Amino acid sequence: MRNNTQSFSALHGYIRSLPIVDCHDHTAIPGPRYADPIEALMDGYYTTDFISMCGDETEAAWILNQAIPWRERYSKFERWLKLSWHTGYGMVVKRVLQQFYGQTDVSKEALEAMEGQLLDLTDHKRFDQILEDAGIAVRITDLIWVDDQGKPEEQRVVEGSLELAPRARFTIPMVRYHGLTSYEEFHNRVKWVKPNITCLDDYLDGCWQMFTAYRNLGAVAFKDQSAYTRSLAYGNPTRAEAEKIFNWIMEDPRRSAGHLEPMKALDDYLFHSFLRMAGELKLPVQLHTGLLAGLRNNITQANASHLIPVLELHRNVQFDLFHANWPFGGEWLFLGKNYPNVYLNFCWANIIDPIYCQNLFQQCISVVPHGKVFAYGSDFVGQADHAWAHADIMRENLTIALSNLVEIDYLTHREARDVAMRWLYENPNEFFGLGLPQI
Ligand SMILES: [Zn+2]
Repeated sequence: MRNNTQSFSALHGYIRSLPIVDCHDHTAIPGPRYADPIEALMDGYYTTDFISMCGDETEAAWILNQAIPWRERYSKFERWLKLSWHTGYGMVVKRVLQQFYGQTDVSKEALEAMEGQLLDLTDHKRFDQILEDAGIAVRITDLIWVDDQGKPEEQRVVEGSLELAPRARFTIPMVRYHGLTSYEEFHNRVKWVKPNITCLDDYLDGCWQMFTAYRNLGAVAFKDQSAYTRSLAYGNPTRAEAEKIFNWIMEDPRRSAGHLEPMKALDDYLFHSFLRMAGELKLPVQLHTGLLAGLRNNITQANASHLIPVLELHRNVQFDLFHANWPFGGEWLFLGKNYPNVYLNFCWANIIDPIYCQNLFQQCISVVPHGKVFAYGSDFVGQADHAWAHADIMRENLTIALSNLVEIDYLTHREARDVAMRWLYENPNEFFGLGLPQI
């Protein structure tokens, strides 16, 4: 992608030369080792566009089933791929195909040519080299799916033996500590530091000890994605309301509270308690807002504007609001402009909707202080090759936006370069206290 402005090429060259802080990713362990060319092209995001087009989830599952030789699945794969790959997610597929396999179009012959060159991303050196090529200096990693080493992440945090993927700094998974519904769930969260929980104070103390252990080991932020399971409209219940529910759950280990509305008070109370802890630990809080991964989700409950009472209340906590709140860009810009404790993060958004980002980057400049914005977060689980493509797309989105503003004399070329450097590197460097050298 490009535009016809005079400054595009020079600005793109500069943006390509900048190191990037990847402001959100999920890579706990480098991988995968691709087993067939269809697998190498697919990722969790593009798969949803593919299924959305195919319409028949059973058929889509068959097409993507690696137990069946890929040649048998190919003709159906090509049909649905070619009806769905002009989306931002599809753009990632096209760029992976071109960059890593030298193919410009999908055909049976192209996939046959890929077969002998399939990437092995379990090779840490290869994985790291792709990040280097993507310009990714550091990644803020949410380890939500870690557990490959037979030992729970919490245990490794408490023992101080947590291993990270290349270039990763990590976050505290706040979402795991609330929204719980049984004795066992509460017990499992904090048993490493608090084997016996008998009351709400015990549980909160266990959480504080866990969060402190994460922070002492180097965690740079809290992360929460509760919008997948509930509305971001957090209430502000009393401790007594929350405690009543907690005690009811804990007094009988066979009980499970379910997700009924009356149980919400406990969830809400714990969320506020954890935000107070984040304030005390002086760590920012990353929150999922906007589009939800997967299909058949309820977007209305994920709109960042539901968070207004939370943002008003916890003024000493810095919030990093994710995913450009897609598709509610206007509300998101308002939050970034209006609340001194709100920062805006374009992670994932650059491939959800490239055109949205090209436009919103420009609007962002005109309405939100540019020191409060982070332009990139890859948001993959492994798949450094797909993160590379995502970074490539982001650089074009950003160059188009900034060169448009140079073209209309809104920014000078020098100011545009400074914004890019801030959004890609220096803002997250300062916000997360990464200690990277200034450029
Ligand atoms: Zn994510």
